[in-house]
Amino acid sequence: MKDTYRHKGLRKNLIEEIRSKGIDDEKVLEAMMKVPRHLFMDTSFIKYAYKDQAFPIGCGQTISQPYTVAFQTRLLDVRRHNKVLEVGTGSGYQTAVLIELGAKVYTIERQRELYMKSQSFLTSVGYKANFFYGDGYEGLPSYGPFDRILITAGATEIPEKLKSQLTVGGIMVIPLGDSNSQVMTRIVRINEEGFEKTEHGRFVFVPLLKGKSM
Ligand code: SAH
Repeated sequence: MKDTYRHKGLRKNLIEEIRSKGIDDEKVLEAMMKVPRHLFMDTSFIKYAYKDQAFPIGCGQTISQPYTVAFQTRLLDVRRHNKVLEVGTGSGYQTAVLIELGAKVYTIERQRELYMKSQSFLTSVGYKANFFYGDGYEGLPSYGPFDRILITAGATEIPEKLKSQLTVGGIMVIPLGDSNSQVMTRIVRINEEGFEKTEHGRFVFVPLLKGKSM
């Protein structure tokens, strides 16, 4: 499967749709224009790849809706060479968007099958990231601290271990709530002890689960 002119045309329309929904961060839109989302989807859903919707990727998980990816990425305010921890590799689509923004990405997935599949797929198409199979609640203490931390599953509380792996001046974006819906929350570490929290509307994610799964 290739990235054809037709795919690029569909992608351009999707980007314009996301822009019309209020995302005006050109760097984020440009990065998303570069990532061939159809290659990250299960064959049965490829024809819907450029719809602004979430779709199943196996193991009961989903590839996030493009608008949601754009929204989270914009809040994360990624700079080139930032060290970014992503919790929930899933299809690897968000990972690719972060790489296109020039980030050095560390990504954790708790489902072994998705971890294996996304690691091998991203590597095969030339996206270099550091992949980990494990529990994102724990973060990666021996690789931190991170300039940015992005959680792509809904959490009931802010994982304390992740807060402590954020640099001073660092930003975490995390959907917080129950299983029905979550509030997009942005946390900035203003000094060693202090964190500033802002809220940015409701979304629906698959749940952030403790421990790893086979
Ligand atoms: N960023 C992904 C979104 C995938 S959905 C994409 O673009 O496709 C969220 C993912 O988080 C799922 O794959 C799920 O298995 C994973 N997840 C849930 N809890 C986790 C945890 N504690 N640690 C790591 N990954 C987790």
